[in-house]
Amino acid sequence: MSGTAHPRTQTVRCGNCGRTNRIPAAADGTPKCGNCHQALPWIVDATSQDFAEVAEQSTLPVLVDLWATWCGPCRMVSPALERVARDMAGRIKLVKVDIDKSPQLQQRFGVQAVPTLLILDQGREISRQTGAAPPNVLRDWVEQTLSRRAQPA
Ligand SMILES: [Zn+2]
Repeated sequence: MSGTAHPRTQTVRCGNCGRTNRIPAAADGTPKCGNCHQALPWIVDATSQDFAEVAEQSTLPVLVDLWATWCGPCRMVSPALERVARDMAGRIKLVKVDIDKSPQLQQRFGVQAVPTLLILDQGREISRQTGAAPPNVLRDWVEQTLSRRAQPA
């Protein structure tokens, strides 16, 4: 892991105290609230240019949302994923990729339809879900994938 500071930041609201925090797109460990020190939901955008740094080099497992502006189901799935990222703050990082801005990533992951959701562990794809699903199904999928990951192979 490089210890260099990433210049790009985004803002996120602390789920515990409500304070708006700036969080880095890429960093070691987990961002914490400057006010109450709880783990913050880590929700950031990435493109082909910074996907390696933001997603593949993440120490936390990464939930990748490959979406498109013209995709109706994506508009339902994205808020559900953000909810999962908030509920699982400190355990997962949500990285959103607009495939029209990053066609290289669309090709690389063989995305045929949006939304396509990936879970990456140390840059390796460990699970994939294609198409819309209700929030509770998405959450169960993420929880089950992470619990499998925690067990010895
Ligand atoms: Zn807080």
